[in-house]
Amino acid sequence: MKAVVLREPGRPVEVEEVELDPPKEDEVLVRVAAAGVCHSDVRLADGELGSGRWPMVLGHEGAGVVEAVGTGVTHVAPGDHVCFSLIPACRACPTCLAGRPNLCETAGRNGVRGRLLDGTSRLHSNGSALQHGLMTACFAERTVVSGAGAVPIPRELPLWQAALLGCAVVTGFGAVRNVARVAAGESVAVVGCGGVGLQVIAAARLAGAATVVAVDRAEKLERATAFGATDAVVATDDAVADVRALTDGGVDHAFEVVGEPATVRLAWDMARPGGQAIVVGLVARGVDVSVPGIEFLSDKSLRGTYYGSGDAQRDLPQLAELAVAGSLDLAGAVTHRTTLDGVEEAFGRLRRGEGGRTVVVVDSDAAGISA
Ligand SMILES: [Zn+2]
Ligand SMILES: [Zn+2]
Repeated sequence: MKAVVLREPGRPVEVEEVELDPPKEDEVLVRVAAAGVCHSDVRLADGELGSGRWPMVLGHEGAGVVEAVGTGVTHVAPGDHVCFSLIPACRACPTCLAGRPNLCETAGRNGVRGRLLDGTSRLHSNGSALQHGLMTACFAERTVVSGAGAVPIPRELPLWQAALLGCAVVTGFGAVRNVARVAAGESVAVVGCGGVGLQVIAAARLAGAATVVAVDRAEKLERATAFGATDAVVATDDAVADVRALTDGGVDHAFEVVGEPATVRLAWDMARPGGQAIVVGLVARGVDVSVPGIEFLSDKSLRGTYYGSGDAQRDLPQLAELAVAGSLDLAGAVTHRTTLDGVEEAFGRLRRGEGGRTVVVVDSDAAGISA
């Protein structure tokens, strides 16, 4: 089958012919319909998430149709529509048992090694193993994922839209609902209005935030407003002063959705005394972030989050239902559609900070796109 392979950082990714083994007992074989291109794919492709993470089939946000299941799988059957969850929580490690499945130790350990939950790979090229990108590897015609990595979703939701659920949507919504716990009437700033940032804006509005200030380059702000931002501030040297002026001294919750030290600092500066800055963006390995220590006296907090800090097996079907009900605009977040051959070009747009989500349409009929 065809798959997008990262051979080594700094070299463009390419579509290659690779071999995919059948699913083992607790695994699911999915025919990929569509996949979203996320900034984390670029971080991997640029070698910013640590060494040894190649050769790898990239892609960790997507949806498709179940083609076969292992003998131990009961939650999905061939023909079911699923979206991928990049953390197939094991439900048995100490963090899972403590109610934090997004931090599952078994998934974390194997994810970093590019393996499935049992510690092995189903992907090969000329006899040598390939890594599964974030346990998903969905820039490919088919993929095998650990059982919990395939989450059933309603058929009414077109798969090219459902493709966004498993990373951008669950991450953005979870940051608002599970981490910040934004309440009705509160104020929010969102620094970075790309694929995930737009979902943070939408979730903040659904939670009843009275003020949602979008902060980004001018060309990103129109879409942010369409997603529910009440105010838009261009990310210049005056951005902090502008946000403070709009919100009477700062926001209750400032979300950083870029993953750079300068934007983490912006979010921190935009939060009011007693407020919080939440870092949703993925900061490259080895990069430090700093804030003025004296300001901890103002009761502000700086928080991290990973993968929505909730339970994706519970949250993803709910988010899919919200999309079916029309409360969640997935199509509007997509600015480009391409094929597997267009992934490198999509990486270029992300590196330059251009556009919203690119969706890679792998199978247009299954994805629900009429020619
Ligand atoms: Zn992602
Ligand atoms: Zn676990």
